Amino acid sequence: MTGNAPARARAEIDLAALRANVRTLRAQAPAAALMAVVKADAYGHGAVPCATAALEAGATWLGTATPEEALALRAAGLSGRIMCWLWTPSGPWREAVEADLDLGISGLWALKHVIRVARASGHTARVQLKADTGLGRNGCQPADWPELVAQALRAQAQGLVRVTGIWSHFACADEPGHPAIAAQLDRFREMLAYAEGQGVRPDVRHIANSPATLTLPETHFDLVRTGIAVYGVSPSPELGTPADLGLRPVMTLAASLALVKHVPAGHGVSYGHHYVTAGETTLGLVPVGYADGVPRHASGTGPVLVGGKWRTVAGRVAMDQFAVDLGGEEPPVGERVILFGPGDHGEPTAEDWAQAAGTIAYEIVTRIGTRVPRVYVNKEQEG
Ligand SMILES: *Cc1c(COP(=O)(O)O)cnc(C)c1O
Repeated sequence: MTGNAPARARAEIDLAALRANVRTLRAQAPAAALMAVVKADAYGHGAVPCATAALEAGATWLGTATPEEALALRAAGLSGRIMCWLWTPSGPWREAVEADLDLGISGLWALKHVIRVARASGHTARVQLKADTGLGRNGCQPADWPELVAQALRAQAQGLVRVTGIWSHFACADEPGHPAIAAQLDRFREMLAYAEGQGVRPDVRHIANSPATLTLPETHFDLVRTGIAVYGVSPSPELGTPADLGLRPVMTLAASLALVKHVPAGHGVSYGHHYVTAGETTLGLVPVGYADGVPRHASGTGPVLVGGKWRTVAGRVAMDQFAVDLGGEEPPVGERVILFGPGDHGEPTAEDWAQAAGTIAYEIVTRIGTRVPRVYVNKEQEG
């Protein structure tokens, strides 16, 4: 970096906003503990700083998909309960058990790995049995549940495991009133009652993700697992904007204009010439592309704020850059371009990009690439 010139691109991560979101979510589910889900590098926001900030604001659990993600949090010095749930035979089982992770277990094959390493290492493994209550993805089918519960209790009696949780995951919590919500909740209660009837005494029973935490109090049980809402992004347009939900977007994606130039009428712009200038105009070059996570599907549609005005991606998003038609205006090279942020300066939001690209806002923030430095602001807790 030269002098004070801002970097080519940066994702500014407002940790005060993240802490405020965690406090808002805790107030929504006052009787439950809160797990901050920080999988996929905290949905692109940076796992360790976000996990640390979430714990400062009252989260008492961290959740990741893969064991490697959970082990990275332990290696960074984060203590307390950390749960992970996406296993393949390669584990790493022993490291996970020795790091005192809570292991989401969806089937007998996985329980057998846990029992094997618990026996070899002398550690009691914490396992949380996952019920497939209707999502049809991970989790144990009702027909296989009695066997999984029985085997887990047998291993518990031998001191090899402790069943610390019974849990499940919703398919349609972001669609209020969807009949699958009530059906899954009934099924969850049944599978839970069966396990407790057999003698399981879990620390935590949980099924709520962000949309359920925000809209379905009857789903909160002992713990809510919130991901997207921690980052101040709405789980779906149907549920409202972040502001409607009392949330504040954490990520602002900004770039510095790399070039501003005059071009004549009829000038093609970017690969394939899908945009052709209607008249004499100016083009601005924004130095981020699909390698940075700017969706190519937003070619011709993605919005940005430059010089106080919304401009639209002109032509295709390329690997490293895209152009905008500045309509004859000449902001200086280096001018701040905001792709998305909380909207305070009138900039687009991640939800606007999701709409432009035909996807969900989860994907917009999560895919921001490693070439974009994360810059943390408001790291210190206020007050
Ligand atoms: C990702 C994930 C969550 C968090 O979902 P959000 O909709 O982002 O709140 C919760 N539980 C599980 C099992 C997940 O995979």
